Amino acid sequence: MSKVRETVLEIDLGALEANYRYLRSRIAADTKFLAVVKAYAYGSSSQQVALKLQELGADYFAVAYTKEGMALRAAGITKPILVLHPLPVHFEEIIDNCLEPALYNHKVLGEFAEVATQKNTKDYPVHIKFNTGLNRLGFDQEGAEALAEVILGQSAIKVRSVFSHLAASEDLAEEAFTLQQIDTFELAARQMTKALGYTPMRHMLNTSGILNYAKRAQYEMVRSGIGLYGFGNELQYDLDLQPVVSLKSVISQIHHVPEGQSVGYNRKYQAHAPVKTATIPLGHADGISRIYGNKKGFLTIKGKRAPIIGNVCMDMLMVDITGIDCEEGDEVLVFGKETTAATLAAAAGTISYELITAISQRVKRVIVD
Ligand SMILES: *Cc1c(COP(=O)(O)O)cnc(C)c1O
Repeated sequence: MSKVRETVLEIDLGALEANYRYLRSRIAADTKFLAVVKAYAYGSSSQQVALKLQELGADYFAVAYTKEGMALRAAGITKPILVLHPLPVHFEEIIDNCLEPALYNHKVLGEFAEVATQKNTKDYPVHIKFNTGLNRLGFDQEGAEALAEVILGQSAIKVRSVFSHLAASEDLAEEAFTLQQIDTFELAARQMTKALGYTPMRHMLNTSGILNYAKRAQYEMVRSGIGLYGFGNELQYDLDLQPVVSLKSVISQIHHVPEGQSVGYNRKYQAHAPVKTATIPLGHADGISRIYGNKKGFLTIKGKRAPIIGNVCMDMLMVDITGIDCEEGDEVLVFGKETTAATLAAAAGTISYELITAISQRVKRVIVD
């Protein structure tokens, strides 16, 4: 691997492949696999990651917003793309780019059917989202039959799938709640199928759902995001997966700060003893939030932990390297395979999802295969 000389986010497509194969091994061979590549494929690079997953055989893709789906089409993704949270202002673009909307209430259903009718579509594939307890997006199960009647009156659209999303699939203390969500979803799916007179696909499980409930609720398809990128929301599951992204940087400058001085904005770090510090070209504008400052977070230099001292600046941060044998120009690891994003995120009280998706587009992406 070439020497790191600036801040880079390395994307390991070999690790992505291993994770994909591992997750597939946890479900039946004929269950479809939907790869969630929203938010730049969880902060990596949606184009390269989606193309690799398409080559590996992913059946479906999902993004949050229409623009993300358009970018995938432009990049050469030909598999179906589900848009999880489409907004009516983008419905024409959805159809023009062969994207498939999740419809979650009567307002968007009506507006989408209207646009589809204007564009003279027949049986345009849509996905019906049920709210079974997350209380974020979705129709209620109670209205499933009436909903099916409304859809039957719109020949421009046809239901490709019905789906729902678990609120706590990673938390086995909430198993009873999860099983209740599953029951509610199954009832809604049965009612829809009966009233529609045809059988849409069903899907409910995200990564932790696959890991914890594959036997109970994998249905015809599962949806995985974080697992593809190497995290299973539990240390035990993380061990079967490989982090795909590694954030690396370099030491720009070393200071020997005498006792009594301070480091960084607002003098938040006070040197009560002489301290050796390193300044790193990475700041909150790159996605390392101020929550990692003041020793909550740390970098790894020559295998040793260097705590982030003082406030994280916009373009830089400073770490304490006292006792670490390193020089200006040396590589530093922010997160990757040894110190994982899950570990660093946990140190600041957040989760891998937030840390990896926050890495800003200013950081150079480097593909490693
Ligand atoms: C983001 C998202 C997923 C992926 O969840 P992971 O925990 O990353 O596997 C699945 N389904 C929906 C509806 C989502 O919004």
